[in-house]
Amino acid sequence: MSTVLAGHGLMKKYGTTTALDGVDVEVRERDSLAIMGPSGSGKSTLLHTLAGIIRPDGGQVLLRGERRGNGAPAEGLRRIDDLGESRLSALRRKRFGFVFQFGQLLPELPAEENVALPLMLEGMPRREAVTRARRWFVPLGLEGLEHRRPGQLSGGQAQRVAIARALAVEPDVVFADEPTGALDQRTSTEVVQLLTSATRETGAALVMVTHDADVAAHCGRVLQVRDGRISGHTQYTVA
Ligand code: ADP
Repeated sequence: MSTVLAGHGLMKKYGTTTALDGVDVEVRERDSLAIMGPSGSGKSTLLHTLAGIIRPDGGQVLLRGERRGNGAPAEGLRRIDDLGESRLSALRRKRFGFVFQFGQLLPELPAEENVALPLMLEGMPRREAVTRARRWFVPLGLEGLEHRRPGQLSGGQAQRVAIARALAVEPDVVFADEPTGALDQRTSTEVVQLLTSATRETGAALVMVTHDADVAAHCGRVLQVRDGRISGHTQYTVA
C-alpha cells in the first residue's frame, strides 16, 4: 500500500514546552491509526500538525500528490508544511475530512446541509451537493433524519452526521480528535465501527486521537505517544 501522508522528524515547541520531539509517522492507503498517550503527551499537536493546522518548528509533513482522473497512479509525496495559508486551507478542505469530539455541526442547518457544506465550499451547486450528501444517510444509519437540525439529534446521531460530512468530499485522510469522547460506551462502539468501516470503504486513511483503548482497538494500528515522542507501536492484523 502506498504512503498517503507522512511526518518526518516533527518538532514543535510552545515556549519551554516541547510538544513534539522528533516524531516520524507514515500513514498508508486505508490505514487506520490510533494515537494514544497520557494527557499533555502531544497527541493533539501531532494530529493537528499532520492535518496542516499547526506548522511544525522542525521536520516535514508530506502528502501524496492528487489522484489523477484517468486512473493513472497518484504523484509522489509532496511537502505541505511550507505552503502558504490559503493553499494549505484549500488543501485541507479538499483532501482531508475532520471529525471532532463535539461534532461541531452548524446548529441552524438541517443535517443534510451540514453534510453538503464542504461540497458547497468547494463550489458545488447547492442542489447537487445536497443530493450527494443524502447518499450518506443510509449507510450511516441516518435514514429519515436528513431534515433534522443538530439540536434534534442524539449525540451518536450527530457524530454520524459529522462522519458523513468528513467523508462527503472523498478525502485522502480523515482526522478524528476524540470522536467518541462525549458518548457513552455502547454509542461510542457503534460510532467508531461506522467511522472505521465507512472510511475504509471510501479508500481513505484514518488518523484518530483517543484515550479509550476499546476505541483504539478498532484501528489497524496504535501509536503510543509520551513526552512528544513515539514510545510504542502496535500493529493489529487486519482481516
Ligand atoms: P495531548 O493531546 O496529548 O493532551 P497536546 O498536544 O495538547 O497533548 O499538548 C502537548 C503539550 O504542549 C502540553 O504540555 C500542552 O500543555 C502544550 N501545548 C499544547 N498546545 C499549546 C499551546 N497552544 N500553547 C502552549 N502550550 C501548548
